[in-house]
Amino acid sequence: MSDRFESGCLFADTETTPMLTPSEIIEHIFCPRYTYFMHCLKIPQKEEQRYIVMKGRQLHNQREKRNPEYLRKRIGCVKKELNVYLASPKIRVRGVVDEVLTLADGSMAPLDYKYTQYREWIFKTHRYQSVLYGMLISEIYSKPVRRGYICYVRTGAKLCEVIYKPQDYDYISRIIEEIFRIIKTGEYPSGTRYSAQCVDCCYRNICV
Ligand code: SF4
Repeated sequence: MSDRFESGCLFADTETTPMLTPSEIIEHIFCPRYTYFMHCLKIPQKEEQRYIVMKGRQLHNQREKRNPEYLRKRIGCVKKELNVYLASPKIRVRGVVDEVLTLADGSMAPLDYKYTQYREWIFKTHRYQSVLYGMLISEIYSKPVRRGYICYVRTGAKLCEVIYKPQDYDYISRIIEEIFRIIKTGEYPSGTRYSAQCVDCCYRNICV
């Protein structure tokens, strides 16, 4: 692993090109100041989020053992790869997706498990995380990726389909540009427009 210092911000990266993780991008979508606090000031978040991610993965593994044919029946999956590391210097993103699916029509799709309750809609952050994985799969496998799947496993298993639109890719590309700009320049971005998000924010005591 190499650490590099670049325009005032330290990167720790196993790749030669600085890359973001999907979590970092989602946190920026949640509030751009996360990028500033985490990357420019090097103030980490609390551990609770990491617990939720770990719990989700544990549950995923349990379900995988219990019902391996579940997805094939529901969405016409003909092949699946588990816990796939995806990295693209072109997109400048790297991460591990729970499952990469090959569908009967020859297209591919990511499947991501979430340890949160399904609430009759797909969270914006979950949607864009799925889009990100879709971009990576399309780039790396050179196959069409038109949709992704999210499985909410907090209470049972609710499988949701996310249809990707061209504007999703444009939006994600703009967000990635914006994150690298903040990291490079150290600019202090505007916070979220949704003040309700600040109530439980781990940075609320230092955010002005
Ligand atoms: S307190 Fe609000 S504006 Fe500040 S970082 Fe947290 S969510 Fe963003």
